[in-house]
Amino acid sequence: MDRGSKPAVLVTGGAGYIGAHTAKALSEQGFFPVVYDSLSSGYREAVRWGAFVHGDIRDAGALADAIDAHGVKSVIHFAGLIEVGRSVVKPDLFWEHNVGGTVTLLSAMRERGVDRLVFSSSAAVYGQGGRGALETIPEDAPKAPASPYGDTKLACEWMIEAQCRAYGLTAVALRYFNAAGADPSGLIGEAHEPETHLIPLAMAAALGDGKPLTVFGADFDTPDGTCLRDYIHVSDLAAAHVRALQVDLPAGAYQAVNVGTGQGHSVLEVVEAVSRALGRPTPYALGARRAGDPPSLVADPSRARELLGWAPTCSSLERIVADALRWESAPKYGAGVRGGRLGASEPVSS
Ligand code: UDP
Repeated sequence: MDRGSKPAVLVTGGAGYIGAHTAKALSEQGFFPVVYDSLSSGYREAVRWGAFVHGDIRDAGALADAIDAHGVKSVIHFAGLIEVGRSVVKPDLFWEHNVGGTVTLLSAMRERGVDRLVFSSSAAVYGQGGRGALETIPEDAPKAPASPYGDTKLACEWMIEAQCRAYGLTAVALRYFNAAGADPSGLIGEAHEPETHLIPLAMAAALGDGKPLTVFGADFDTPDGTCLRDYIHVSDLAAAHVRALQVDLPAGAYQAVNVGTGQGHSVLEVVEAVSRALGRPTPYALGARRAGDPPSLVADPSRARELLGWAPTCSSLERIVADALRWESAPKYGAGVRGGRLGASEPVSS
């Protein structure tokens, strides 16, 4: 892609799920994304917009070179480890990559005079917190991460905020609720190995990969007994990043912002939406609770609306599931990498 006069944005982790969708959104909004990714969990095939730099987030020299080579003026930082369960058994690794990687990135930015950051945070910073099972969670709700993964996200937020005060960095931390769906083109989407997320697993079950879905707990204090989550379409999430980069903030400002819809959907509602989209039942069994799952995680999205002028436009459950299904039914990155879990010939309902 020809950069021309477009402002260059370093997108660390831009070959991953949310990063790739954000690179596309940046490109559509007149920016030049410079994707910086180690490809340890991202996919080269997901980098379709802007430039690609192969590098590790802990490599100060490579980060500085990428900033210099492309005249980077701002950064959106996704790179890091994300598997909550793995963080419990390898907490040191998560601190090294997530916190250590962010320290290295912030130093490289400061050295090169790059003073604008959007950070990929998570509703995991709230842990079991919130103010009661069925209420929405505002940004000032108690922070009580339930995993080392959540700890590292909160630690990064604190460190970024301190550097805003100390050095005049301007930053927005976006706390994602449940990212889901895929770009409507079917070119990029969710490709985790192993897959642990509800919507892809429900689709695999409905399409008959042999295993019924296990619903993790039906005895929660929620309307149908299953967990409530706030599912946000990845394209809406990507748009929030672009807004966070553009919003007019004074030098040294720091803001943490929830990115969710404010609407909770139960596991069984998601299962029904998948069955409707596929026109066949999703086989499932009620199982035990998964350790650490809070009953309800639903955003209060007021600040995103007020500060960023952002609101979701494509996050209905129907739309999320339809776009996820289009992606699951399409050929995946690097044929064989995901093993064709869903056949390319499976019908798409939309
Ligand atoms: N879930 C489930 N069965 C699965 C995977 C997930 O019942 O095989 C539930 C999980 O307990 C949670 C919701 O689906 O309430 C969303 O889980 P996911 O792993 O997609 O995202 P998380 O909320 O953990 O970030």
